[in-house]
Amino acid sequence: MQDAPTNLETGAAEVIARGCVRPIKTTTGVWVRCGSRIKSKCESCAELYRGDWAAIARSGIFDGPVEDYRFYLLTLTAPSFGQVHRVPRADDARGAYCGCGLQHRATDAGLRGVPLDASRYDYLGQVAWNRDAGLLWDRTRRRIRDRWDSFEYFIVREWQDRGVLHVHVLVRIARAEAPEANVLCTAARTAVAASKVDGTLVQWGAQAKCDAFRADGDGAKTIWYLSKALNYVMKDVVHQGKDVHPRVWAHLAALERAARSIRCAPDCVPVSCPSRVHQRYGARSQVVSASRRTKHRTGWSFTGLTRTVQRRLRREWFLSNAADFEAGGAESQAEYSVRVVESRVLRLRRELAPCSAAVP
Ligand SMILES: [Zn+2]
Ligand SMILES: [Zn+2]
Ligand SMILES: [Zn+2]
Repeated sequence: MQDAPTNLETGAAEVIARGCVRPIKTTTGVWVRCGSRIKSKCESCAELYRGDWAAIARSGIFDGPVEDYRFYLLTLTAPSFGQVHRVPRADDARGAYCGCGLQHRATDAGLRGVPLDASRYDYLGQVAWNRDAGLLWDRTRRRIRDRWDSFEYFIVREWQDRGVLHVHVLVRIARAEAPEANVLCTAARTAVAASKVDGTLVQWGAQAKCDAFRADGDGAKTIWYLSKALNYVMKDVVHQGKDVHPRVWAHLAALERAARSIRCAPDCVPVSCPSRVHQRYGARSQVVSASRRTKHRTGWSFTGLTRTVQRRLRREWFLSNAADFEAGGAESQAEYSVRVVESRVLRLRRELAPCSAAVP
């Protein structure tokens, strides 16, 4: 037992990776999680990913002096690249008349997000927009911060049926300078960027929405809504699985071809470029992110919670409890499922919250 610390560490890491369907062995021989956010690839890691981000989202709303802030849920969309069929999700929700002249029902799912006229649809424009959407958000957040210095955010990028990204943003601004929701909405929606690849103007679509909410009012409801968006993020791209209608496939295949042909950077050679931009309908940006803590800013999470901190907490918990696993033998070790572990981490999150809330 001379090398006990190493054993403990290895044992802890093995339990950390438990539930992961394709754990990775590091060069030091320690098993770690695959860390996928895609449910079809690894349910356990995807669930961890969602839970971690949801906790970060919550910590920027509930873990600070909420009465000093105003909160908003801002949704920004892409422009139109050609008309698509509008098909409602549920049959009782009667959709508006579609551009094709029909009023679709949910059973018309094979038309959802499919162009009315594929021959005139701007596929290249759409994948280029997906590619530059991260830059556009960067310009947008700078613009908002120029006007409201206390601005912090948590952003989720989600796929629309037509194969384009749209974003949901939780926004927090100090009450003393907080604008009306519509003023914030206009400031965000009218931000522009110049593509770093081809110099074209990148803009948001006309469809934007911004609602103010109170942490002690609609806070929980808003978080629930965002968690739903996080669920969608756990799917890889727009559609997954076998039950995709041929017309939807055809649309997505056209987008894939377009993404294969655009440049992802000024010096990109598309045919041989390995960038993911060419595989994800042009998208490159991280799907979930939040404003980070700096010397002068709290960042989104009042408590400084990040995924790195969460991973560290999990690891520390295991190391401090590894002796129990050893003593209990292999059989009881196995009972420590990821679910048990997660409930411990949840408690850690709660305990972490009050002690570090007093960040200037
Ligand atoms: Zn995994
Ligand atoms: Zn239609
Ligand atoms: Zn490329």
